[in-house]
Amino acid sequence: MPPWEDHGHATLESDRVLDDLVRLAAEVCAVPSAVLSIGTSDRVRNVSRAGTAPSDAERETLLVSWAMGEQDQFVVSDALRDNRFNDGTTNTNATTIRFYAGTPLVTTEGRVLGVLSVTDHKPRALGEGQARALDALARAVIDKLDSRLRNLELRRALEERETAFRSLALSEQRYEMLLRGASDGLWEWELDSNEMRFCDRWKSLLGCEEIELTSRPDEWFNRVHPDDIERVQSEIMSHLLSLTPQFQSEHRIRRQDGSYRWMLSRGLAVMDSNRQVYRMTGSVTDVTDQKAAEKELLHNAFHDPLTALPNRALFTDRLRRALDEVKSGDGAFAVLFLDLDRFKVVNDSLGHQIGDQLLVAAARRLEACLRPGDMVARLGGDEFAIIVDRVKHASDAVQAAERIRENLAAPFNLSGHEVFVSASIGISLNQIASEEPEDILRNADTAMYRAKEHGRGSFELFDIGMHVRNAALSQLETGLRRALAHGEFRVHYQPIISLDSWRISGFEALVRWEHPEHGYISPLKFIPVAEETGLIIPIGQWVLREACEQLRAWQEQFPSEPPLSISVNLSGKQLSQPDLIDRISKILDETGLAPESLNIEITESAIIENIDAAATTLKRIKALGIRLSLDDFGTGYSSLSYLHRFPIDTLKIDRSFVSRINLPKNTEIVRTILTLASNLGMDVVAEGVETRDQILQLTGLNCEYVQGYLLSKPIDGRAMRELISEIYNKGLSQQAGAA
Ligand code: C2E
Ligand code: MG
Ligand code: MG
Repeated sequence: MPPWEDHGHATLESDRVLDDLVRLAAEVCAVPSAVLSIGTSDRVRNVSRAGTAPSDAERETLLVSWAMGEQDQFVVSDALRDNRFNDGTTNTNATTIRFYAGTPLVTTEGRVLGVLSVTDHKPRALGEGQARALDALARAVIDKLDSRLRNLELRRALEERETAFRSLALSEQRYEMLLRGASDGLWEWELDSNEMRFCDRWKSLLGCEEIELTSRPDEWFNRVHPDDIERVQSEIMSHLLSLTPQFQSEHRIRRQDGSYRWMLSRGLAVMDSNRQVYRMTGSVTDVTDQKAAEKELLHNAFHDPLTALPNRALFTDRLRRALDEVKSGDGAFAVLFLDLDRFKVVNDSLGHQIGDQLLVAAARRLEACLRPGDMVARLGGDEFAIIVDRVKHASDAVQAAERIRENLAAPFNLSGHEVFVSASIGISLNQIASEEPEDILRNADTAMYRAKEHGRGSFELFDIGMHVRNAALSQLETGLRRALAHGEFRVHYQPIISLDSWRISGFEALVRWEHPEHGYISPLKFIPVAEETGLIIPIGQWVLREACEQLRAWQEQFPSEPPLSISVNLSGKQLSQPDLIDRISKILDETGLAPESLNIEITESAIIENIDAAATTLKRIKALGIRLSLDDFGTGYSSLSYLHRFPIDTLKIDRSFVSRINLPKNTEIVRTILTLASNLGMDVVAEGVETRDQILQLTGLNCEYVQGYLLSKPIDGRAMRELISEIYNKGLSQQAGAA
């Protein structure tokens, strides 16, 4: 019978240290569940568990007992794919064990005590660091169990001895042997005479073998660390008063050379037949190394290995305490969320090693900005967070941000490379006391994104407006998804007129969202959200198909030479969609529309986002025979010089120039654009034409195409069909009249 069983329940009482170690195992390995099993391979008992128990306990037991037979960590990356553990049932329960890793608990004597296991209901693997951490935690568990076992064995020995004492059968000689044989240092304290005996091992643990010790308990107590002595004495008292089943205490003891060691002292009071305590007897074990290992484990769990800064877990913990202080009425703080601006560029161009050096160096500079009570943590990648303590006003937080900005401004010298970085900083003040740490961090993160929009090295204070915007954004996103599923999008068409022939040359397709409650919603409102969430891809696809189908029908009903054309807007996100070309050709194939009739509009900013990729994609679109327009020309980067790099057919002059074309400066700009376009062999469309005056001016400047409310607002397909039909029939009857 294993020694921890014969003493019944008392020895298996839940142990906080063990529970902590098991929980740490789950956390470090980032899995939902961890379990500590003790026993033999045919009979294990789970003494501590973190997370929820898996639904298939049998499989877990099987995996654990398999791991018991191993010397090293035992890993099964997918139990359902492994015949040893697949019981044949296709158990698809969400808590079925798929992944398993277990480190057997092997004592120095080679005895297997059990297994520390982690499990996941998804197939996976452990990272190198995680695997090592699991082993380290298993070692800590063994130490803990080992000392428990020894404690038990000692207890049993003492009890045996006690019985022997009572029956006076134990000779002085055997007693000496017992003292000398144990690996721990033993002591015995006669309470009546207040005399204490220490065995040789006790002396050697304290480095005082050579010294003649008196029999006073002070030989022990005088060596206990001043910070620990009070606690030790009260722990002894508690046991002597039978308040605790045994005396057990971890404390520092000074060795003869003056250094301190952590010792675990344990002892039992011995009673006579009248239940009077007359003696206490016990042991000490040097647990300094174990303590150091525990400390290191704890440190690793809460610090970033690269920069040694606190990690997110520790930061969140500190944040929670700061929040508690605020709730209890004193304390005020701010959180700064920091993102290095050009980190990716440094990392990509100079290599990861320099990138790592930069992170470490930046961490040191951030630390230098701290005042007592502040904390800086690395949250991951190039993101850092800072708690600034005792912030009364927003200006205090701004000052801290400014201090950081100045500190980061000087160049970093990294292995001979001079590197400049700046940081974008979002600031969140603790205005709302009921917030969770995560909320405050998220708010600071939101503000950081705002700061990034202002360019490098900026900072921004979080305000409730951002919160509302965020909430509104996610509401809009949900709405957009529903709109896609329920077919709430419409395409409206606006004609593009040729000033030479006064005929409709084509249409621009403009998407609309017909919201069941709010009516038509402008694309200006939802396209940016669609772009941010990636929903622009399915929406854009739908618009393209709808517009092509519609035009194909109109081309048949209203044949003309050249045929009517359709312009469809394409966003920057779509340009970087890998299968864009295939999808466009597929739509052309399926609708039977000639590529020459399709005109794709893109804005300058969409191209600028990624010039090289855009150039390639545009060339491939062009190679299909599709025409390309540059939309909103003049509002973006207005760099006329790069125009020749792209196979553009048409420039669309933005409405902002057209609306003020009567101002001399604008007239000149439009004239320059028209000249340039004609030199490059491009057509020009003037957008947003609203007055007859503008038409006259544009005609004078030789602009061929116009589009605007004066001619027609964007209208739905049916209304547009009527309009075309009217003009078409008029045109036909004019032709008939001329003939
Ligand atoms: P855009 O491509 O420059 O489209 C022209 C915009 O100017 C349209 O606004 C149109 O209704 C408006 N407009 C036309 N003539 C006049 C005028 O005389 N006066 C004034 N004040 N405005 C005029 P809309 O329909 O609100 O679209 C706004 C923008 O949304 C479009 O600008 C385009 O960038 C984007 N968009 C529209 N549909 C789509 C789409 O299907 N896909 C993508 N990616 N973007 C689209
Ligand atoms: Mg457009
Ligand atoms: Mg435009």
